[in-house]
Amino acid sequence: MNIADPDLLDRVHRHALDFLLSLPDRHVGARATREEMLEALRVPLREEGEPSSLVIDELAAQGDRGAIASAGPRYFGFVIGGSLPVALAADWLTSAWDQNPGIYATSPISSVIEEIAAQWVLEILDLPRESGVGFVTGCQMANFTGLAAARHGVLRKVGVNVEETGLADAPRVNVVVGDEAHVTVLTSLRMLGFGLKGLHHVATDSQGRMRADELARVVKSLPEGPTIIVAQAGNVNTGAFDPLRDIAEIAHERGAWVHVDSAFGLWARASRDRAFLADGIDLADSWATDAHKWLNVPYDCGIVIVRDSSAQRSAMAVRAEYLEHSAGVERDNFEFVPEFSRRARGIPVYAALRALGRRGVETMVDNGCARAREIADLLRADSRVKILNDVVLNQVLVRFGDSDELTKEVVARVQREGTCWLGGTTWQGLGAMRISVSHWGTSEEDAERSAEAILRCVG
Ligand SMILES: *Cc1c(COP(=O)(O)O)cnc(C)c1O
Repeated sequence: MNIADPDLLDRVHRHALDFLLSLPDRHVGARATREEMLEALRVPLREEGEPSSLVIDELAAQGDRGAIASAGPRYFGFVIGGSLPVALAADWLTSAWDQNPGIYATSPISSVIEEIAAQWVLEILDLPRESGVGFVTGCQMANFTGLAAARHGVLRKVGVNVEETGLADAPRVNVVVGDEAHVTVLTSLRMLGFGLKGLHHVATDSQGRMRADELARVVKSLPEGPTIIVAQAGNVNTGAFDPLRDIAEIAHERGAWVHVDSAFGLWARASRDRAFLADGIDLADSWATDAHKWLNVPYDCGIVIVRDSSAQRSAMAVRAEYLEHSAGVERDNFEFVPEFSRRARGIPVYAALRALGRRGVETMVDNGCARAREIADLLRADSRVKILNDVVLNQVLVRFGDSDELTKEVVARVQREGTCWLGGTTWQGLGAMRISVSHWGTSEEDAERSAEAILRCVG
């Protein structure tokens, strides 16, 4: 048996390089329609398979046409991020190793690497070093896991083990969210048995920040009982941060648990220049973030952090007779996350943090913020443009001719034109173009080229 196929791996290496090296110059959008891709890829499922090299060649050819260049430096849609070369390389190793990182016994190397990466994450984000850290698919599952720990933690304080009792026989938990809570917070709460109708909402300000005075009012009006407050660091539209220190103060007076959705905003902690935005975030109880966005590791990789790691383990851990739980100091990764078997996604995080160091992560964050400011300034100089948000981080909201229609049209033209890619949104009733600079390699020249292309598309 040939356990590996060197020719095939050489071939895919070349295809991957061709793709990556084309990124700085290619049209940023996809260049094939759904029909064209289906036409090329939907062969009948055969009785006998086809040669591996042919399958890989055809995939590469179609990926080249049908993939959007979000791994490149002028993709500004949603909040996506690319892949650092070292993180991609470590991800290839992860695939080759094909480890199941569930428990120490199934993959000692994954356990050790995630133990180290977890500690580095806490150091670079300056969060309580005793926290539990789990590597999940993305911030959706990080929110889910953090909120599951919150549910356990607040109910344990009133003597209920919710994993045993279930919600139906537990005291009612008050859940407070800002009006700008990300949809994944709401799905997480739904999955945890907190219906949307029962949530307590707090009004936000012009930048989408939870209003502390409103939170104080809402908290005062809550019925007695355990309480979870969900804050946000880094609004998907404006990049704004909730007033986290005030929120923590109000919460602690009440004995509430604070969970922070900080998919990309948490990385501001790594920047001496931007850390002030997240002031007080370390006073929270749990944090959800992404590594696949601003840390620029390949998809998928989110991180959940819980100060009281026993609450996290109680909410997540499973026990089964056949599992060889580590009895000693070894880390069983699955105690920290919902998944049983999964990808060893802590490995690219380890590689990225080791290769970048503190200063490298800081530079990446500062770079995204600086490029966002540059694009905003270049656009703002044109009288037809209005920047709708305070550009405090990496997010810019742009409106053209004070018109929803023109704004939508400019977004569509930019997508067709292909110098860069960005999407549309609605901000406080106004149509806007949303720019997110989350790629490690976006240069000043990329910012200038993109701003010029956008202004050309205004017509
Ligand atoms: C992207 C994002 C999420 C969801 O993260 P995924 O990695 O897509 O699951 C949650 N909250 C905020 C603020 C985000 O920007």
